[in-house]
Amino acid sequence: MVNFEIARKRMVQEQLVGRGITTPRLLDVFQKVPRHLFVQEAMAVQAYSDGPLPIGEKQTISQPYIVALMTDLLELTSKDHVLEIGTGSGYQTAILASLVRRVWTIERIRPLAMQARKVLDTLHLLNVNIKVGDGTLGWPEEGPFDAILVTAGAPAIPETLAAQLVPGGRLVIPVGDEANQTLLRIRKAADGTLSQETGIGCRFVPLIGQQGWQLNS
Ligand code: SAM
Repeated sequence: MVNFEIARKRMVQEQLVGRGITTPRLLDVFQKVPRHLFVQEAMAVQAYSDGPLPIGEKQTISQPYIVALMTDLLELTSKDHVLEIGTGSGYQTAILASLVRRVWTIERIRPLAMQARKVLDTLHLLNVNIKVGDGTLGWPEEGPFDAILVTAGAPAIPETLAAQLVPGGRLVIPVGDEANQTLLRIRKAADGTLSQETGIGCRFVPLIGQQGWQLNS
């Protein structure tokens, strides 16, 4: 039998703190959110391992360190309104929802969105709105957002998403080809100008949509 709390503590210390994630609020949330509930039951014993895991529908739950790094790059405050593209298992959504005022999250695969909703409800994370659709178009009716996180690999920065940031807003997104991407942070200045910082190399499943990869490319 795995003791999930101990496994989680080890994950936080070895995979996050050990790689330079030090934001106390963030570490606290990773210590609390039960990642094993976001994977299929047979995979629960691997939930705190140092890598991505399959979640069905040919999609993955990202490596804990990548989830933490992307969250850290968003520079969130407890008052923020955040848009996430690629709900997947809902684990990253749960981390965000534990840190900010409200999260809007979009997933293109309905069964994943439904399963994520179920787990988030079980955890009483009620500050989350989930929509099934093409997240590359954003959620303009609910924006603008303080922060936007894209959890699938994009060929370029979707202009629609950058347009839905408040002045001072941050967009974190992996951009590259279908095999390898670079994590980017885009900031919108008060005058609407965008600036870009480059982070680590990474490998995500593709962002499929009007401003992402086309399904048959
Ligand atoms: N954040 C997720 C988690 O914690 O489990 C992992 C997300 S997984 C790496 C990427 C997700 O993005 C997949 O579930 C995929 O179906 C979804 N996706 C890809 N293109 C999308 C789009 N245009 N709109 C919404 N979701 C999309």
